[in-house]
Amino acid sequence: MNLVDTDKMPLLFLGHGNPMNAIEENQFVDRFCEIAKTLPKPKGILCISAHWYINGTKVTAMDMPSTIHDFYGFPDALYKVNYPAKGSPELANETKNILLPNLVELDYNWGLDHGTWSVLTHLYPKADIPVVQLSIDFTKDAEYHFELAKKLSFLRTRGILIVGSGNIIHNLSLVDFQNMDKDDYGYDWAIEAREKLNNLILDNNFKSLIEYKKQPKAIQLAIPTPDHFLPLIYILGLKEENEQITMFNDKLVAGSLSMTSLKIY
Ligand code: ZN
Repeated sequence: MNLVDTDKMPLLFLGHGNPMNAIEENQFVDRFCEIAKTLPKPKGILCISAHWYINGTKVTAMDMPSTIHDFYGFPDALYKVNYPAKGSPELANETKNILLPNLVELDYNWGLDHGTWSVLTHLYPKADIPVVQLSIDFTKDAEYHFELAKKLSFLRTRGILIVGSGNIIHNLSLVDFQNMDKDDYGYDWAIEAREKLNNLILDNNFKSLIEYKKQPKAIQLAIPTPDHFLPLIYILGLKEENEQITMFNDKLVAGSLSMTSLKIY
């Protein structure tokens, strides 16, 4: 597969999970490496990370975004990770323009947070593709983000890989630290939520996902706050009717997290 064969870049939603995935070898990061090999080489990457959840929509517009270590209490090795991808003022400007009349502010203060670099370091270890981040406006609801995402579609025809980085099931307050390394370990509600959410995704029932607050209790436990769920909503908003969804890393971790990831093409 290469750019000549396709007029549109695929879409990715990546479950990023524990920041330690950035420097560990495990089944999840192996699949990140593999999935990158199935993609045409992007000209640029636009990442919507759960960890840039702010009042307003901003896009990073600096030439050289810094690697932000936006977590506490992890081993030194994780703070030493540098992901030296360039930014792209050009892509930032284009993103700002195509989202009009929604107002997008060019940002020179953020950089790449771990939602972005902890996964891109496996997909593109050479950091040789320019990366821009788009923030998630916490004052807006899921419907707003779903509609906003559609406007980004044009970028796919320009060789831009759009990546949503979050976790579909993400309840940090219930994480079972005793069972961090147990394979596909989820509480009963997480198992139920995964099945229901995966079915909604694969059935293209995006309306029910946008209205996740009306869903059963298991889904409420899976999505206690919207930050890690909304990157998925962006990627589903961009999906076209004739495109297929492939799931990978569809496993539960530490009881209350899922690593479920999607490639849409
Ligand atoms: Zn996260």
